Amino acid sequence: RPAADAGDATSAGARDAVADRPIVLHVEGLAKSFEGLKAVDGISFDLHRGEVLSIIGPNGSGKSTTINLLSGFLKPDAGTIKLEGRSIAGLSAPETSAHGLARTFQNGRVFGSMTVAQNVALGYHKKLTANRPARGLQRIPVLRWIPLLGEAAASLVPWPSVRRENRAVAGHVDAEIERFAERLGPRRDDAAYTLSYANRRRTEIARALVSGPTLLLLDEPTAGMNQSETAEMLHVLQRLKAQGHTILLVEHKIELVTALSDRVLAMDGGRIIAQGDPDEVRRDPQVVEAYLGKRR
Ligand code: ADP
Ligand code: MG
Repeated sequence: RPAADAGDATSAGARDAVADRPIVLHVEGLAKSFEGLKAVDGISFDLHRGEVLSIIGPNGSGKSTTINLLSGFLKPDAGTIKLEGRSIAGLSAPETSAHGLARTFQNGRVFGSMTVAQNVALGYHKKLTANRPARGLQRIPVLRWIPLLGEAAASLVPWPSVRRENRAVAGHVDAEIERFAERLGPRRDDAAYTLSYANRRRTEIARALVSGPTLLLLDEPTAGMNQSETAEMLHVLQRLKAQGHTILLVEHKIELVTALSDRVLAMDGGRIIAQGDPDEVRRDPQVVEAYLGKRR
C-alpha cells in the first residue's frame, strides 16, 4: 500500500503550489530488464518545474538505472519519457542533453587531466552545440562527446587541439567560465585530479549547470562524503533549489532528502513502493522494512 498516492501527497500549501506548476518530466510505465532481472519494473511519475523530487531505496532497487534510462545511457524496454512534452525515450545521451537534460554520476566523473575550468567548459560547449543539426559524426564538435567517454579516451583528445577546432566556441566558453569563477573558486586552473573528492563532485555539478539544463539529474551527490562535506553539498543543493532549478535527486542520506525534497519516491525491486511527502514516506512501514532488510 502506498503511503500517500498522488491525491493526498501534498500536505503543505507550498507543495500544492509546486504541483500546480507545468510538468517538466513525464514518465509512464518505464521498464528495463537485465537478462531477466527487472531492474526498473514499470514506474510512472511526473516532475514539475522548480520541484525537487528525490528517489530513495536500498542498493539495487533501480535508482541509477532510472537515471540512466532518463539520460539516454540505457534504452528502455518499454515506457514513455517526455521532457517538456517532447518524447526523449530511446534517444542517445548526447541527444537527451541537447534536449535540456544534464546529469551527474554516482561515482563522480570529471576529467582529472583537465583543469576545473576546462571540465566546466565541456558543459557549456554542449549548450552551444545543442541546436546545430548533426550530420554525421565528424560534424559534431569533439567536445560534446568527451563527457560520454572514459578518462582514457578523453586523454587522447588534447585540449589545445580541441580549442583550435572549436575556436568559435572558445571565446564564449571563457566568458561563461568567468561567470562561474566565483563558484569554482581559486582552483579553477588546477588539474581536477588535485582536487578533493568533494570539490570534484562540485565541479561535476557546475559542468551540468553551465549548459542551462531544463532538468538536472543528480545520482547520489554526497556518496562517499564525510559529514562536513555532506553539509556543504546540502548548502549547494539548497541554493540550486532556491534558484528555481528542477531536480531529480537520487540520494541515500534520508536527512538530506527530507531537508531538500518537495516529494519523495521510494523504490524497491524496481518498483515505486511509496511516494509523497518526505516525512510520510520515510515513516512508511514498507519503506522502513526495505531499508532495514537490505540497506548495506
Ligand atoms: P541502485 O542505483 O538503486 O542501487 P541500480 O539501478 O544500479 O540500483 O541496479 C538495479 C539492479 O539492476 C541491480 O540488481 C543491479 O545489479 C542491476 N543492474 C544495474 N545495471 C546493470 C547492468 N548494466 N547489467 C546488469 N545488471 C545491472
Ligand atoms: Mg545507484
